[in-house]
Amino acid sequence: MVGPDDITAAAARIRDMVRVTPVRTSDSLSRIAGGPVWLKCEHLQDTGAFKLRGASNAAARLGDVAGVTTASTGNHGRALAHAARQLGLPAIICLSRLVPQNKRDAITALGAEARVIGASQDAAFDEARRLRRDEGFALIPPFDHADVIAGQGTLGVEILSQIPDAGHIAVPLSGGGLLAGVALAAKSLRPDIRITGISMERGAAMAASLAAGHPVEVEELETLADSLGGGIGLQNRLTFTMTRDLMDDLILLTEDEIAAGIRHLALQDGETVEGAAAVGAGAILAGKLRATDGPLVLILSGQNIDPARHAAIVRGAA
Ligand SMILES: *Cc1c(COP(=O)(O)O)cnc(C)c1O
Repeated sequence: MVGPDDITAAAARIRDMVRVTPVRTSDSLSRIAGGPVWLKCEHLQDTGAFKLRGASNAAARLGDVAGVTTASTGNHGRALAHAARQLGLPAIICLSRLVPQNKRDAITALGAEARVIGASQDAAFDEARRLRRDEGFALIPPFDHADVIAGQGTLGVEILSQIPDAGHIAVPLSGGGLLAGVALAAKSLRPDIRITGISMERGAAMAASLAAGHPVEVEELETLADSLGGGIGLQNRLTFTMTRDLMDDLILLTEDEIAAGIRHLALQDGETVEGAAAVGAGAILAGKLRATDGPLVLILSGQNIDPARHAAIVRGAA
């Protein structure tokens, strides 16, 4: 279980490990949404995504371990490598052979070992489990873990300290660690606040699981919101029920709607974000999200997108 006190404790624990990120209003999105829209610029967090909050909290709570490991190649792996370095802990990020060299380089640049093993994500995950079993490493998963959720929750506390009259927070949704933490924090401070989750139509595992009433697997499809891909785990312990109980609405976006969000944030607001972080703007532009419940906060959750890809999307060529 995770409670509001865990989030308060996490905020104190990670204060010197993460940045307080800025907030700003968006005039163009406010006009379209029919009320004030704020951008929470968490894409300016160290490592380029909010995942540093949860990874730092989980790693900082560990007792005597040989090191930390995970099999995430994306923003969580990068965050864990960064947190481990700050704590002086060895980190081994397990990857499959399919992971491109630039991602391996990003991990080794943070002082972690990028251990390349097998031809699939499953094989990489097996190695992470072996490190836990045989070598005394702590395996820190990307979302379904109490300390990770509490760490992500510090973002909710920060939002309400910066925008006390916020009425509605739109949260990019994949495994639900971000939404569970932010919603728990925000609703414990302001029970009437509205929480909307946003995922892509292509392969949204949490949406399918909520519809089924229990965690289900979905086919993983390529999407512009690549950080929102992947399953929630058939053995999900925390984020499925927390998302079910704390989320007020769920919006799904097409690939074109996500691209429009990336383009708008770049051209109108001057913010470079990855697809997962553009879903709030994309939902407003698609007429699926309005700012009529008080100030609406969009969490810009990350910036880690290939620059050439970003440029092509902004040009309208992708
Ligand atoms: C991981 C991630 C998300 C989704 O977070 P969950 O806790 O898995 O729901 C959203 N945006 C970015 C940039 C991410 O890296």
